[in-house]
Amino acid sequence: MALKNRRIETQIWCSFCNHDPETDFHVLVQCPFARNVWCLTSIGSFVGTASSFKDWWIALTSNHSPTDIDRAAMILWNIWIARNELIWNGITRPANFIFQSASDSHNQWLIANSRNKSPPHSAHQSTHVWTFPPENFVKCNVDAALFKDPPRMGYGCIIRDASGAIINAKYGCFQGNFLSSTVEALGVREALSWIKELKLINVIIKSDALLVINVIHSSVMDVFKPRPFDGRL
Ligand SMILES: [Zn+2]
Repeated sequence: MALKNRRIETQIWCSFCNHDPETDFHVLVQCPFARNVWCLTSIGSFVGTASSFKDWWIALTSNHSPTDIDRAAMILWNIWIARNELIWNGITRPANFIFQSASDSHNQWLIANSRNKSPPHSAHQSTHVWTFPPENFVKCNVDAALFKDPPRMGYGCIIRDASGAIINAKYGCFQGNFLSSTVEALGVREALSWIKELKLINVIIKSDALLVINVIHSSVMDVFKPRPFDGRL
């Protein structure tokens, strides 16, 4: 964009199809790749007469339930993550992976909002009601879940401000077999790294992983402190 603003001719093409200019509307909605993701959802790949992302979003929010709109936001977010992974890391994600990631992210969001809802393979059962952070604070809810086929763990982090509005969200996945306690620890670690990246201050981290929280708060952390070398390994 900076080059374009200086009137230097550049053309950025969609990384998914390499066929059309990369606009938000194309990458997130119109691209055949994005459509494959949308086809897996209850919303479908309907574009209608919309000619811009804004028009499309207004039409979607006018014709779907709040739950569908939340799911759509998660789909958009995960398509964008897949686009970045492809560009920066050369990783190609299939449509069903993105759909599953978005579904998991939505489940994490529901956990943060309701005491009665939790994902089917959550590493624990949430029993807490979400509470607003104080003024000038943000709250980061972290949760992690195990999946069997293929074996992997996923984590979700959602940051909300003092009004409860979502200001950022992140989902990640690691392949392999994990213990539930390890999964929760990985989720908290990823959240901490992400918060550092975002340069956020006054952050409250909320995790239901009792073991991890206890370790952080207890003197067990002393084992991680460097100690003088006494000749023994
Ligand atoms: Zn495309």
